[in-house]
Amino acid sequence: DVLSRMEVTDDKVKAYITKTADYALQQAENVDADIAGGAKISVLAGIPAAIKDNICTKGLKTTCASYMLENFVPPYNATVMDKVLAQKPALVGKLNMDEFAMGGSTENSAFFATHNPWNLDCVPGGSSGGSAAAVSAGSAIWALGSDTGGSIRQPASFCGVVGLKPTYGRVSRYGLVAFASSLDQIGPLTRDVTDCAHVMNVIAGHDEKDSTSINSDVPDYTKSLVNDIKGLKIGLPKEYFIDGMDEDVKKAMNTAIVDLKKLGAEIVDISLPHTDYAISTYYLIAPAEASTNLSRYDGVSYGSRVDGEDIVSMMTNTRTAKFGPEVKRRIMIGNYALSAGYYDAYYLKALKVRTLVKQDFDNAFKDVDVILAPVAPTPAYKLGAMANDPLKMYLMDIFTVPLNLAGLPGISIPCGRSKDNMPIGMQFIGRPLDEETIIRAAYTYE
Ligand code: GLN
Repeated sequence: DVLSRMEVTDDKVKAYITKTADYALQQAENVDADIAGGAKISVLAGIPAAIKDNICTKGLKTTCASYMLENFVPPYNATVMDKVLAQKPALVGKLNMDEFAMGGSTENSAFFATHNPWNLDCVPGGSSGGSAAAVSAGSAIWALGSDTGGSIRQPASFCGVVGLKPTYGRVSRYGLVAFASSLDQIGPLTRDVTDCAHVMNVIAGHDEKDSTSINSDVPDYTKSLVNDIKGLKIGLPKEYFIDGMDEDVKKAMNTAIVDLKKLGAEIVDISLPHTDYAISTYYLIAPAEASTNLSRYDGVSYGSRVDGEDIVSMMTNTRTAKFGPEVKRRIMIGNYALSAGYYDAYYLKALKVRTLVKQDFDNAFKDVDVILAPVAPTPAYKLGAMANDPLKMYLMDIFTVPLNLAGLPGISIPCGRSKDNMPIGMQFIGRPLDEETIIRAAYTYE
């Protein structure tokens, strides 16, 4: 069972920050009682699930893998948590991540790094590395993650599981600790596409408490679990098949393309000409929003405090001691980009390029139904390999951040293995609010 899997694997994988085995057992008993009593239960009832530690859980620590929130126990649930808990899952714990979701390897967690279950010397990806590793190791059947610039899809790809980033606004962000509010989305990490559809059915939908959540009907995503992509037009962006991409990733993608043709899809070459600018655009907008969002951690209203002689030194001491290096780097970049005199040159320019990136997709979707792309240029790499080179790690986000900039949904599914037997993922990208078609494509391929 899942709790014994957790016992066997988690000493090595280290996916969990907080474990709630007792709660899970109790919940499983409750569900047994419901079944015995003849009650109708949800498909997720009693199923072990785990939650990324930046999603607020009432009465249960929500640390964002930061010393700043090390002892933060939210007095309320995120909207997705209320929705999930209503299904009576056996919640097994809260999952490790890069501090405040900033990173792509889970090595930026203030507490400890998570290891990839496929090879413990490798990173699980990030920032939802705990979520992907737990599902991959079998210490949870499904998990929630968050994706600001790839943080669901990239770890899913590194750990050989399925990860879906919904359309911006499809899932409420209320109670998700904000990183970059115009990019953040919560989504599922699951073992297969069927589970993904079931979790989406629970978490999607409008929420009055999130003014950016979209007020439109939520389809039944399990209706998209149909084995048929005959005639589906799949776009291949030429900018996503570049030199410097790992040979194994290239090979896996090419095999997938052949298979998709066999399944009856029509492959169409397309161009997303502003792809090259996506990384620089993202790494201005995300830190700019982060620097604003993280200003609330001042030692007064939230989280930890380190005393000082006066209020300014108290705030300075708190932020100096409790934020990790990557978080500080982002706050500095963000404040710089937003400063008077630099605003037009950096932030405003980035917003304009963001529109161009979005227009690339709008144009492409005139000709195709979905877009197929790799998730990351390489499979999972060794722990420590990029630890001292943040820029190199930023560049790994080339295939994931464009979707966040454009607000589009994307699903990452396994499509092969590297020579070293590490999983490789590919993503289907959909039109806004068209999770159904990418789920259908992923289900048919899987
Ligand atoms: N790797 C990206 C970053 O560090 C993505 C993070 C995310 O999606 N939360 O910003």
